[in-house]
Amino acid sequence: MKQATPFSIQKLSHGVSLIRETHLCESWRCNIWHIQGRDRDLIVDTGMGLWSIAEHIAAIRERPVLAFCTHSHHDHAGGLFQFDNRLGHSAEAEIFEHPTRANTVAELLDPSVIKTPPNPRFDASMWCYPPAPLTLEVSEGDLIDLGDRVYQTLHLPGHSPGSVGLWEANSGLLFTGDALYDGVLYDHLYHSVPEILCESLQRLREIPVSTVHAGHYQSFDRARMHIVVDEYLSGQRSMQCPGSGIT
Ligand SMILES: [Zn+2]
Repeated sequence: MKQATPFSIQKLSHGVSLIRETHLCESWRCNIWHIQGRDRDLIVDTGMGLWSIAEHIAAIRERPVLAFCTHSHHDHAGGLFQFDNRLGHSAEAEIFEHPTRANTVAELLDPSVIKTPPNPRFDASMWCYPPAPLTLEVSEGDLIDLGDRVYQTLHLPGHSPGSVGLWEANSGLLFTGDALYDGVLYDHLYHSVPEILCESLQRLREIPVSTVHAGHYQSFDRARMHIVVDEYLSGQRSMQCPGSGIT
């Protein structure tokens, strides 16, 4: 029987594709964004890396690839080690270089979310992604030039100290990682600070976006962004909120 491919790909507008790890439950898998540029491509987040995302990208396009992680959590940065060019925020450089199950929050991983393990001996209760030292540390306002399009980095701390988004002014595309997605926002992790997340979300609220491509779930427009941000700021959509089921 033919084995299912570990990735699905969905082509969107502006040379952007959404790649997903099909062997993971939808509740856990992050969105992997592939942005095509004239001279080089950008991958925004790399998934868990249990399957070869770098080979998958190389099979699609013959371009140099910059792999950019919005933050160091295991579901976003697990595949970073597979790439030669590894970008992330300096505030989490230590975690990328010395990942542990604690500092990448892999301890929260429920083994049942892995529908098809990468090999028969795989043990999710012990797993941590391999070290992936950054080759380029970014900070607020850095520019990433793909040849015919330029992305600006936005430092968006709160979910994690080095959470960073990408803004393309020409297209109005905004990539937010886990700082903002259309769901309950994780603000309860060991290095999360809800008050700082509020500041990052208020900043995002003012940006004239056309489309938000987030770290999880569906993409959305500016009107939806305002709803999601306002609901968080009013105490909804928070893991720390009483009644959210989290203690
Ligand atoms: Zn995260």
